[in-house]
Amino acid sequence: MNNDSLAIHVQDVKRIYQSAAAPVVALKGVNLAVASGQFVALKGRSGSGKTTLLNCIGGLDRPTEGAIFVNGRALHNMDDQALTLWRQQEVGFIFQNFGLLPTLSAFENVELMLRIARFPRRQRKDQAMHYLEQVGLSKWADHRPYEMSGGQQQRVAIARALANQPKIILADEATGELDFETAHEILQLFRTVAKENSIAILLASHDNLVAEYVDQVLNLQDGQIIDLAPG
Ligand code: ADP
Ligand code: MG
Repeated sequence: MNNDSLAIHVQDVKRIYQSAAAPVVALKGVNLAVASGQFVALKGRSGSGKTTLLNCIGGLDRPTEGAIFVNGRALHNMDDQALTLWRQQEVGFIFQNFGLLPTLSAFENVELMLRIARFPRRQRKDQAMHYLEQVGLSKWADHRPYEMSGGQQQRVAIARALANQPKIILADEATGELDFETAHEILQLFRTVAKENSIAILLASHDNLVAEYVDQVLNLQDGQIIDLAPG
């Protein structure tokens, strides 16, 4: 298969943590492919390796073995500096606890990402406002996280992840802190932004809710993607 046609292409990835007691094999040879515009769920119990896999795909960690291509770029060929730069420019991250800075407004939280990625001032302002609008929060731009609901805070985090116009968004348990109804809204929003912006979104979750919204469910068990029998 041509790597360049895929947003995310993971080949035989192993990740072994060297701990004092015994090595932990967190990923045992993972293969997966996600195309642009696809919203994909990575399902699995706690400890199955979801966070480890997302971290490897997002360049926060490196596999012990195997290869990862994002939009045709081989992550293993980049040195640490190149990988950091690549991550700032091409990847959006979303976390369970939103990860917003409490003293900054919604706008400033989004704009900070663009500062870190060294976007020029004008573009920072335009893009921050554009993506706050896309998540339905233009009127909340000047509010701080503590003035917002959990769902609104997660929307800010989504705007922040979108702001640098990444090729992929990696969302780790992004609905884990939200009530049922809000989780539905956020999943619908993920689906919309994946399609509208042609971004591949990989969402790690153990929630059955996700199946209604995603294009594909990948099941991770003990560090391996498994086929669940249909029915
Ligand atoms: P999940 O996100 O699905 O809960 P993780 O990727 O966090 O799974 O963890 C997968 C396995 O790797 C678990 O057994 C976990 O204990 C282990 N693990 C995760 N991070 C580390 C680490 N830094 N050092 C050692 N073991 C780790
Ligand atoms: Mg995890």
